[in-house]
Amino acid sequence: MSGTIYYKTDEEIELIRKSSLLVTETIAEVGKHVKAGVTTLDLDKIAETFIRDHGAIPAFKGYADFPNTLCTSVNHHVVHGIPNKESIKEGDVLSIDCGTIMNGFYGDSAYTYALQGTDEETMKLLKTTLASLYRGIEKAVVGNRLGDIGYAIQQLAEIESGYGVVRDLVGHGIGRALHESPEVPNFGKRGKGLKLLNGLVIAIEPMVNLGDKRVTVSSDGWTVATIDQKASAHYEHTLAVRKGEADILSSFKPIEEVIKNNPDLQDIN
Ligand code: MG
Ligand code: MG
Repeated sequence: MSGTIYYKTDEEIELIRKSSLLVTETIAEVGKHVKAGVTTLDLDKIAETFIRDHGAIPAFKGYADFPNTLCTSVNHHVVHGIPNKESIKEGDVLSIDCGTIMNGFYGDSAYTYALQGTDEETMKLLKTTLASLYRGIEKAVVGNRLGDIGYAIQQLAEIESGYGVVRDLVGHGIGRALHESPEVPNFGKRGKGLKLLNGLVIAIEPMVNLGDKRVTVSSDGWTVATIDQKASAHYEHTLAVRKGEADILSSFKPIEEVIKNNPDLQDIN
């Protein structure tokens, strides 16, 4: 992912917004169908149809030979889970990561749903991980440095809350490619790293573990799992660095609406 950083024009940022909004609308559409008994492969089909019906292309399908539209990661699976025929059940947490390509531009976002019956300890992990994403986004403004973002996330998730922030996977620049420079770690030092300039578009995506921060890749070559089998959470927004306040291009509003209306989901807010 090392290489040129492409700062985006306002027009390009609007195109990335369209793609990013479709991503979170897709995650919301999927959320309508999340309940005990459904398989992640069922959810994947719903997502692919929804994306194509909106004139876009699923960005993950075929990316480095990934086979599906969604990454579906249940419980101790952190990210990159491959949809399968196993049913999800009460008490599970399910991370949905999704990307689309529309008008040549990528959007990327992720959300962790909690099914009814999820224990309090795990609910707190989800809540804190989501809050850590917004702490990071607060720092994604002109004049700050990349390390300020990671520091803010790590401070809340690890130092204040005692969770494990995953080191092996990071956020990224995004635009005409799914993964552009720079890398955006969820840990770091204040005042260090790349200076943030107007028009930098990045995906910030804290992956936070209830226990040990270390992860391992499963035998399928994709699924990243916690080393201690404890739960993990993942939230991701695509956003543009601006003066004073970042412009969040994806939106969790449609997802939050679905959570309110789906009795099988537990509201983390
Ligand atoms: Mg991403
Ligand atoms: Mg993603």
